[in-house]
Amino acid sequence: MLNQTTSDTLFTQAQALIPGGVNSPVRAFRSVGGTPVFMQSAAGAWLTDVDGNRYVDFINSWGPMILGHAPAVVLDAVRAALPHSLSFGAPTRRESELAELIIEMVPSVEKVRLVNSGTEACMAAIRVARGYTGRAKILKFEGCYHGHADAFLIAAGSGALTLGTPDSAGVTHGVAQDTLTVPYNDLPAVAAAVAANPGQIAAIILEPVVGNMGLVAPQQGFLQGLRALCTAQGIVLIFDEVMTGFRLAPGGAQELFGIAPDMTTLGKIIGGGLPVGAYGGRADIMNQVAPVGKVYQAGTLSGNPLATAAGLAQLRHLQNNPALYAQLNATTTRLADGTRQIAQELGLNYTVNQVGSMFSLFFTSGPVNHLEDAKRCDLPAFGRYFHAMLARGIYLAPSQFEALFVSTAISDELVEMYFHACRESLVEAHR
Ligand code: PLP
Repeated sequence: MLNQTTSDTLFTQAQALIPGGVNSPVRAFRSVGGTPVFMQSAAGAWLTDVDGNRYVDFINSWGPMILGHAPAVVLDAVRAALPHSLSFGAPTRRESELAELIIEMVPSVEKVRLVNSGTEACMAAIRVARGYTGRAKILKFEGCYHGHADAFLIAAGSGALTLGTPDSAGVTHGVAQDTLTVPYNDLPAVAAAVAANPGQIAAIILEPVVGNMGLVAPQQGFLQGLRALCTAQGIVLIFDEVMTGFRLAPGGAQELFGIAPDMTTLGKIIGGGLPVGAYGGRADIMNQVAPVGKVYQAGTLSGNPLATAAGLAQLRHLQNNPALYAQLNATTTRLADGTRQIAQELGLNYTVNQVGSMFSLFFTSGPVNHLEDAKRCDLPAFGRYFHAMLARGIYLAPSQFEALFVSTAISDELVEMYFHACRESLVEAHR
């Protein structure tokens, strides 16, 4: 049993002060039960909580910490930036350097604007697409998450041709009407939605590899089909690469699959752990953005000097060490294959999906290609597995509907430790 006394106390205090005790809902462990672990510090692959327990981190702050925690290359850059003040609200050289690096690594991006989060990036991208096309509607996929802007909080499950229903209180039906949702990997449903709304869809936005219903890969031809449809219909194709950008390849999922979207949203890795997002794309589209164009978007802290220092250092390190991608992919393939094998040996015909350095163990048999597949998972068993892994020092995402993110700090020895914990925890979860 873990000693979580201090975490328990801090959580009780936090609940009186912060809604649910957390500043982002998934941290509250609602879907797995129990008390969230309060963290104290981290280095490399290891997290240390406020009670002194240590865990190998397979979340990595939901993606940004691709080099593990507190990598010297990023910390040194932040330290060097620190004495020069924390914000200017005026342009700086590093903003252009980061923009240039993003443009170099993601060739479909010809111009880019920095913001402070993935949510802001996606929110701005659809505004720009609407301004560019003069159309109102957007199409998204059930189970894809694009942050918490109103337009994206639309119920999964609403039919392609019906109007969206808000997924959160506070989102108006007026907003929901302009968001169409269809199942992921279902090209005919997309075509039907486009045909039913002729000349009205400004953008199709998707995670080119989904991390937010667990890890789901695009099926053969899906991304190509979307690209062709968008080109034919004058719809702006937006790849949300907030998770996949600079992770699945230096140029993200679009490089891996060889598809150029019209716009791309980014976040997480480009801030090295500090708050940053970005949206970019074709120059003619990005030139719609103020002050050159008529689409307004702004930010007091956008292009923050510490965040750009951290992001630049991390991206440069990735760009200069392309072998890191092969290492990450090999480690993750070992983890995914090993997890699948352990489950099978225990008579559990569970599904493991992997793309690059992201993977998920789904507590269901059969393929998981869209949200309805993912929803078949045995969630109580997952909750028991999660806690059994935590007790063995393995920190997983506290929800079945999340991907795991592998960092370069995961050594062969830690993979073995994970396998050992995985076998014992699967047994424990199914007792
Ligand atoms: N898009 C994707 C694909 C995400 O995974 C997330 C967050 O996890 C977001 C957008 C929103 O980013 P943020 O949490 O930085 O607002």
